[in-house]
Amino acid sequence: MFTDPLFRRLLSVLFLAVLAGCAGPRPGELVIDRSIRAKSQDSRVEIVVLHYTATSNDASLKILSEHNVSSHYLITDEPRPTVYQLVDESRRAWHAGISSWYGRTDINAASIGIEIVNDGGSGTSWAPWPDAQIDVLITLLHDIVKRHQIKPHNIVGHSDIAPQRKVDPGPLFPWKRLADAGLGRWYSESKKQQYEREFLERGLPDIAWVQSELIRAGYDVEQHGKLDRATRNVVAAFQMRYRPSRYDGIPDAETMATLKALH
Ligand SMILES: [Zn+2]
Repeated sequence: MFTDPLFRRLLSVLFLAVLAGCAGPRPGELVIDRSIRAKSQDSRVEIVVLHYTATSNDASLKILSEHNVSSHYLITDEPRPTVYQLVDESRRAWHAGISSWYGRTDINAASIGIEIVNDGGSGTSWAPWPDAQIDVLITLLHDIVKRHQIKPHNIVGHSDIAPQRKVDPGPLFPWKRLADAGLGRWYSESKKQQYEREFLERGLPDIAWVQSELIRAGYDVEQHGKLDRATRNVVAAFQMRYRPSRYDGIPDAETMATLKALH
């Protein structure tokens, strides 16, 4: 076999051609060696922001995919909710707007946004959250938290990061249920009761204390010691999440005790 000289020459030409092909990049061709990976790295995603859409499934889908707002995920309110992914997790979705959390203001760049279809509300009337929808959200959140190593205090509502502009996901949103599922931050009930007793016996801390505790919890508020409108908005955002029975923005003993029991 292969003794024919012409055939052997053909073979060697072919061999050289293959070798030349492997020898290196052609001019202008970019070759990147990805065989070695750095030990020191983590996800760019550190925060998950939850929203309600305050409109129907169809309108939510249209707005979030065609207008100049978006989210990574959209959960519908159908009996069996659909989870749409509208933006890749490696890319920015435009959901947070002007916002701040632990002093960080580029929230879109560091977060995953989840919009949940719910009619929302204002004042005293709010739309309820079906269990099926929250079940799906919890499954999705577990997956995101695991893949990006999200810390509990970084699962937030839009109202947490933009308390001057936003109230979603609102006071009916089941934050406690999420916390019971191991998702998000919650406070110690026994410590809260203890602090509340102490505050009622010895008197309440001042507004500067409330402001400094809110800052410590991640909220954007100035520590000037006055209960101005901006401070009340932040207190109301905190209450909607942790003490939703009353969210009037007045830092009463229970609110202050809850705030202290968070740490
Ligand atoms: Zn929102």
